[in-house]
Amino acid sequence: MDYFLTEEQQMIVDIARQITDERIIPARAHLDEHHEFPRDILNEMAQADLFGVAIPEQYGGFGGGVFDVVLAIEQIGRGCIGVGTAFAANFLGAFPILLAGSAEMKEKYLPAVVSGEKFAAFGLTEANAGSDASGIQTTAVLDGDHWVLNGTKQWITNGGEAQIYSVVAMTDKNKGARGASLFVVEEGDPGFSFGPKEKKMGIRASSTTELIFKDCRIPKDRLIGRQGTGFITVMKTLDLSRPGIASLGIGLAQGALDMAATYAKQRNQFGKPIISFQAVQHMLADMAIGVEASRALVYQAAKHIDAHPKDMSKVSSMSKIFATDTAMKVTTDAVQVMAGYGYMCEYPAEKMMRDAKILQIYEGTNQIQRNVVGQELNKEYAK
Ligand SMILES: Cc1cc2nc3c(=O)[nH]c(=O)nc-3n(C[C@H](O)[C@H](O)[C@H](O)COP(=O)(O)OP(=O)(O)OC[C@H]3O[C@@H](n4cnc5c(N)ncnc54)[C@H](O)[C@@H]3O)c2cc1C
Repeated sequence: MDYFLTEEQQMIVDIARQITDERIIPARAHLDEHHEFPRDILNEMAQADLFGVAIPEQYGGFGGGVFDVVLAIEQIGRGCIGVGTAFAANFLGAFPILLAGSAEMKEKYLPAVVSGEKFAAFGLTEANAGSDASGIQTTAVLDGDHWVLNGTKQWITNGGEAQIYSVVAMTDKNKGARGASLFVVEEGDPGFSFGPKEKKMGIRASSTTELIFKDCRIPKDRLIGRQGTGFITVMKTLDLSRPGIASLGIGLAQGALDMAATYAKQRNQFGKPIISFQAVQHMLADMAIGVEASRALVYQAAKHIDAHPKDMSKVSSMSKIFATDTAMKVTTDAVQVMAGYGYMCEYPAEKMMRDAKILQIYEGTNQIQRNVVGQELNKEYAK
C-alpha cells in the first residue's frame, strides 16, 4: 500500500533498508549465535544520520518526529530486532533529555547521541518493580553539589554498551509517584557499574544488564527536569517510544512473511509448490493482512502522536499491542509454513519467532497496554 511518504521520509526508509540488506541481514545469525553487540553496524547507522531522525536540527538531528523513527526502525526490524532494539534504546534513553532536560543538558548530550559518539539507555525496571514501576527502590539523595544514587536497575537494554543512562530514582519515598526523579548517569561515574550480560531467548545482539549504583555521585545538574516529575516524564517517554517497538513488530513480521512466501513457492510436495495448497495460501494471506493492518495502525498512531503530543497514550498502546501480537503470530506461522526447515537453525525463521516474544513484554507488557487502552476508554465513555 502507498503511504504517500515525503521525499525526506522515503530517504530515511531507503537508507535504513540499504543498511539492513547489506549489513544486518548477512550478520544477524552470527550476532545471534555469539550474543554479539553490533557496534560497527550501529556506528554506520549513526554515520548515515539515522540516530538523529527524531532529534531537533539545532542538536544536529534531522528534526523529524515519531513517524520518522517508526520508518527507520521498521526497516531495521526487518533484518534483526536485536539490532533494532539496540538502535531503538537510544531514543528511549534520549527522549527524557529531549522532553524535560535543560538547554545545557540537551546541548551536552543530544549531539553526541546523534553522531553515535555516545549510545543512550533508559533505566526504570528493578527486580521487584516491573509492570508496577511505582515500586522502585533506587534512591537519590542530595549531598551538597551532588546527588548520591543507591540501588540496582534490572534488564537494561544497551547496559554496559551505552555511555549515557536516563535513570529513575526516588528522591522522596513519602510522596509516592511524585517522589520519583530522572537523572543522567554517565559511564565512568564513581559508584556506577554493570552486572554481567544476561543470556536471553532472543534479541541476542542487544545487550541487557543490571545497572548498579553504590553511593554513585553525580553532579547536581544531572537532574532531568524538576525534582518529583520523574514518572510524568517516564510516561511521556514510553508513549513516544512504544510506536518504535510496534514498528520493530511490523519489520519483523514483514521479514517473516517474505521468507515464508518465497519458501512456499520453492518447496515442492505432492508434485507441486506448497503455495498452491489453499491451507498454505490462507496462512500467508492472514500473515499479509496482519502486516499491512499493523503498518496502517502504527503509521497513523505515530502521525497522531506527532500532531497531538498531549493525547498519545491510547494510540501508542494500541499500536504496540496490535503490531507486536501480530509479529508473534506471523513469525509462528512462518515457522509453520516452513515446517521442519523452519524449526532448524539453518533458516532465520526460528530466530524470528524467538525474537518476536520480547515485543509483547518490554516497554510495558501487552496486558498492561490493554489496561491503558481500557482506562482511556473508561474516561472517554464517561463524558
Ligand atoms: C530483554 C529485555 C529488555 C528490557 N529493557 C529494558 C530497558 O531498557 N529499560 C527498562 O527500564 N526496562 C527494561 N526491561 C524491563 C521490561 O520493561 C519489563 O520486563 C516489563 O515491563 C514487565 O515487567 P516484569 O518482567 O517484571 O513482569 P511483571 O510485572 O512481573 O508481570 C508478570 C506478568 O503479570 C502481568 N501483570 C502484571 N501486572 C498486571 C496488571 N496490573 N494487569 C494485568 N496483568 C498484569 C504481566 O502482563 C505479565 O504477564 C527489559 C526487559 C527485557 C526482558
